[in-house]
Amino acid sequence: MTCTALGLSDTVVVMVRVRFAPSPTGYLHVGGLRTALYNYLFAKHHGGVCILRIEDTDRTRFVEGAAEALIEILRWAGIEFDESPEKGGAYGPYVQSERFDLYRHYAAELVQRGAAYYAFDTPEELEAMRKRMQDAGIAWRYDRTSMRNQYTLGEAETHRLLESNAPRTIRMKVPLSGTIRFDDLVRGTIEVPARDVDDQILLKSDNFPTYHLANIVDDHLMRITHVIRGEEWLPSTPKHVLLYDAMGWERPAFAHLPLLLNPDKTKLSKRQGDVAVEDYRQKGYFREALINFVALLGWNPSSNREIFSMQELIEHFDLTKVNKAGAVFDIQKLEWMNSEYLRAKPLDELARELLPTLQEQGINPSLEYLARVIGLVRERIHKLCDVPSFAAYMFSAPAEYEPAYKAQYWRPDYAAPMQALTERLAELTPWSASILQETVKAFTKESGLKIGILMNLLRLTITGRSVGAGMPETMELLGKDECIRRITTALQQFSLES
Ligand code: GLU
Repeated sequence: MTCTALGLSDTVVVMVRVRFAPSPTGYLHVGGLRTALYNYLFAKHHGGVCILRIEDTDRTRFVEGAAEALIEILRWAGIEFDESPEKGGAYGPYVQSERFDLYRHYAAELVQRGAAYYAFDTPEELEAMRKRMQDAGIAWRYDRTSMRNQYTLGEAETHRLLESNAPRTIRMKVPLSGTIRFDDLVRGTIEVPARDVDDQILLKSDNFPTYHLANIVDDHLMRITHVIRGEEWLPSTPKHVLLYDAMGWERPAFAHLPLLLNPDKTKLSKRQGDVAVEDYRQKGYFREALINFVALLGWNPSSNREIFSMQELIEHFDLTKVNKAGAVFDIQKLEWMNSEYLRAKPLDELARELLPTLQEQGINPSLEYLARVIGLVRERIHKLCDVPSFAAYMFSAPAEYEPAYKAQYWRPDYAAPMQALTERLAELTPWSASILQETVKAFTKESGLKIGILMNLLRLTITGRSVGAGMPETMELLGKDECIRRITTALQQFSLES
């Protein structure tokens, strides 16, 4: 129920309302995922609302299908938005390109209030001014005293130009002196000299709003209480607070999240690794691990604990504990977290998740067998998708034997003892890891070969690979017939080679 429906003013009952407001200009960056996640965690922690708003006013950067892809990957990550059809709402995601009339209305109102003005400069005139400033070594700022705008042209000429539909923009009127002040939940009080802030265009000559106008209009109309976004938006905030104040609207609280950094402390970039959430999904990271990892980029729950489910993140999340300093994106930590999830997840769930990938490769094990294979090797890998390559021998006999491994362990005079061991194994019942272990151990005396040699010979002949899970367990799972068949094939092949 809304505050108004309860007969209360909005200032009496403050329900947390936050938004994730991506521009559909491409893929979802891991930094974007962190912003979305912090908004979501903050809202859920406070029993509030988190909405999705697609900021698609910049048509030059618009990428077809990008909004749909963003929504899809956020859903994969487990971040759900309120007021959207899938959450039983009727409105979201909100799309700015469907709301242009609103922005035009408020741009005109800002002009009426004397907080914005019409400017008629042509691109060439602006370019000439830019050049003049550059030559004089001055940082760019629209100089409203020397250009063609409402102030220099006067009311009558402005009116005439507007009537004649002359191309015009609406610019915000930034004070020429003084200080713009606002509070940030992460960075404390921020002060910016007004002279450093440009008379930003709010409505472009094609009547499209800029980010700044659409953003504050929507944050106000959508009753956003907390604006949580990346540090790169900090320079925009002085403009936004001026606009809120000019409209007489209450400012939301601001929280600007720290930058994500490469290990060498430069800004996280594609050149040093993957930055698209999609890449991490494709590479087989669990959504839980990625969420857990991203959650700790810039925030930590003041304990040494590192593994948190989404529910636990919601319980612990505290915006005021977000750091100012940039957070290093350490892929090794993500790998470690992923292996923690790989170890903790139920095996049947993992098997169901992996089966389709195997089927695509023409491998079709039973779910039960697959679950046992995963159980056997998961301590040794980081990702579920590593199972098919790491344990290929669990699904088919080796097509080749690692040459270096074979050179290290195989000698022609091992053929006879291996033959004898194979006969011993063929008689075993039950076929279990512990009995296999005992049998091989007992065979050391008879053959005079050390247990390490025997186990490596079994590994070589059965798997063809130098690394894998424990041999008795591997053999138990492969089954007696398969093991005997593989050893026999290998011994035959080796004897032909020697
Ligand atoms: N559309 C902006 C972006 O792409 C949103 C910035 C904000 O949250 O205000 O990140």
